Amino acid sequence: MREKLSLQSLMSHFRERWANLPDRRKPNNHTKYAIVDGVLAAFAVFFMQSSSFLAHQRLLQSKKGRSNARSLFQVEEIPSDPQIRNLVDPLSGAYFQEDFWFLLDELKEQQRLLQFRNDLNTYAIALDGVNFFSSEKISCPKCLKREDRSGTEHFYHSAITPVFVKPGQAQVLPLPPEFIVPQDGREKQDCERVAAKRWLAQHHEHFSAYSVSYLGDDLYANQPLCQLIAETYRQFFIFVCKPESHTGLYEWIDFLEQTNSLEKVTQRHWNGKHGESWQYRFAPQVPLRNGEEALLVNWLELVITHEMTGEILYQNSFVTNHTITAANGIPLAQLGRTRWKIENENNNTLTPALAGGARETKGYHLEHNFGHGQQDLANVLATLNLLAFLIHTIQEMIEPAYQRLRRALGTRKTFFNDLRALTRYMIFDSWDDLFLFMEAGLEIAPEPP
Ligand SMILES: [Zn+2]
Repeated sequence: MREKLSLQSLMSHFRERWANLPDRRKPNNHTKYAIVDGVLAAFAVFFMQSSSFLAHQRLLQSKKGRSNARSLFQVEEIPSDPQIRNLVDPLSGAYFQEDFWFLLDELKEQQRLLQFRNDLNTYAIALDGVNFFSSEKISCPKCLKREDRSGTEHFYHSAITPVFVKPGQAQVLPLPPEFIVPQDGREKQDCERVAAKRWLAQHHEHFSAYSVSYLGDDLYANQPLCQLIAETYRQFFIFVCKPESHTGLYEWIDFLEQTNSLEKVTQRHWNGKHGESWQYRFAPQVPLRNGEEALLVNWLELVITHEMTGEILYQNSFVTNHTITAANGIPLAQLGRTRWKIENENNNTLTPALAGGARETKGYHLEHNFGHGQQDLANVLATLNLLAFLIHTIQEMIEPAYQRLRRALGTRKTFFNDLRALTRYMIFDSWDDLFLFMEAGLEIAPEPP
């Protein structure tokens, strides 16, 4: 069962599927490389988190007639970086959405997705926007544009990058991204909402048999989007809801507070160093906006204070269409807070997987290998990068050898450093070979079956 998601069979699967990518080139001597080789090679750079992986493999190929690009990533002929750019640029990022679903559906099939089921018996999907490219000079027709105060034009790319999350679970599972396009609007908030609606329209059917809670920040807590999720797709939302942007709703909350009609729960938590006071306030069925036909939502707030100093350590409020009871208010707030945790703590995994930039040392800023392209290159590369991230996470969830190695090597950085160094000097026939070699070197024996 597990085999279908092993690295070796996944790479065969991708080779087979990506061989069907449309080839719009006219046959001439530029068609030396197959498109599938260009895509697999770009994927390898992201998967290895190494901008020099392909250069090393070209060298191995010329000296030894073989390389890890072929044995591990099924690249038959390794194209140069500019050739990869030309091969990948005309493709569409949307083509690769199906690859995410292949992986996620297989996880479902193997009952592994259950790991992400939360205390409310739903799967939580955090919706979030991320900028993953920015330049004052380089641009493409898919670039978004903004002018800063000094009149300088900035070009950038943004996407909604939804992920499965669960409170207390370190891993997140990326779902297919949805790219924000120049036609989506001028305001950041509008663009993100339009892209989120497009994402829901395209992907909601995958969850028709499941109950899903969508998590998002304040900009998602708007009536059309909440209505769409609750009434059209019959799912749940837990969105941050700030007083500044929901003045009508907070007039109700103030009124309920003054009349002592808010439900309140206080809990004491020990965080290992000091006591914390967790105060919850709830209000059922308050109007999300001013005016008629306002959607009625349930409101909750969590304030965490330092028990000794009284300092506020965390404060946030949410609206949801989950019914709030004294029993589920706490898991609801925890779930809402999970989104916030992703933004703040998981930054060094998912966001830089796309954003690169300041975290270049982590080896994520890899699209520079290939330049920016003139068609869909930037978005295709970002998609392949997320796909690589998803596959690593899946290996971490299901592959015992991968798990043993990650445990033995401590940090993610050491693991990737070792992968890069080994594949620079040696050729491995398969991923199993590579992992066995590493396990033997580390003297970590596989557990008996
Ligand atoms: Zn661009």
